[in-house]
Amino acid sequence: MSNPQPLGGNQMPRFGGLASFMRLPAATPPAELDVAVVGVPFDIGTSNRPGARFGPRGIRAESVLLRPYNMATRAAPFDSLRIDDVGDVPTNPYNLTDSVARIETWYRDLLTHGVVPVTMGGDHTIALPILRAVAAKHGPVGLVHVDAHTDINDVMFGERVAHGTPFRRAVEEGLLDCARVAQIGVRGTGYAADDFDWSREQGFRVVQVEECWHRSLVPLMAEVTAQVGGGPVYLSFDIDGIDPSFAPGTGTPEIAGLTVPQAVEIIRACRGLDLVGCDLVEVAPIYDTSGNTSLLAANLLYEMLCVLPGVEYRP
Ligand code: MN
Ligand code: MN
Repeated sequence: MSNPQPLGGNQMPRFGGLASFMRLPAATPPAELDVAVVGVPFDIGTSNRPGARFGPRGIRAESVLLRPYNMATRAAPFDSLRIDDVGDVPTNPYNLTDSVARIETWYRDLLTHGVVPVTMGGDHTIALPILRAVAAKHGPVGLVHVDAHTDINDVMFGERVAHGTPFRRAVEEGLLDCARVAQIGVRGTGYAADDFDWSREQGFRVVQVEECWHRSLVPLMAEVTAQVGGGPVYLSFDIDGIDPSFAPGTGTPEIAGLTVPQAVEIIRACRGLDLVGCDLVEVAPIYDTSGNTSLLAANLLYEMLCVLPGVEYRP
């Protein structure tokens, strides 16, 4: 049984065919997969500009240009693992609570097949039901969280579940191994000067973006991976961690963010971790007519595939 492969650009022009992620067949039962690429079209947890419901569509559309081999690291994810696009979770656009329940059920079922889910969001609310399912299978996980925001609000408009609260809830529910959590790229204005300190009080490492400016993140990531390793790890990447000049297609942009090379350095440094799931969230393509935000997201998801356990690297 050969692994599912992206459709080549000489078999069908890249602007033709079905726009599955990387033009994968989108036809493999989850029971036969090692990695499931999943879309979660959902944005009713957003606090400012909506539109992340179109994230999976936008990312799939821009992913058609991606090729199977990583020319920098020589990773060969599709030779090594059985990877396919398994489609979208049927969220309920009229009901946030029901959507969150549907997402958790969907991931619990997916994880019975032993796959690693790689998710295209959707707003960051979706990390909570995904982490519930992941922790039900693996126990409390370490977390590499890239974001302009810590997403640890207690409530938003009195609501306990929204895109700015998932990691507060995850701590309360025991889904995270708090000593193995790092939040990278956080910045901007706060409701109070000590907004980020709740994270630190839980044992998280909080890397404010100023610690990242003007430098390679390879040394930082050596420390982060040493901190978060030693058990299963989840990678949650909010596209607004990257500067809005590179990624304007998002709902809550913050200036002076990470660069694209820094984002790639963060993901490549995760090679060797026991990654049990990854997501790329908060892409709202309608605010970026160039398509660059979705193109960036597609490439970062590809880089995530390249660092999953079991991926071989060509000499
Ligand atoms: Mn976020
Ligand atoms: Mn954010």
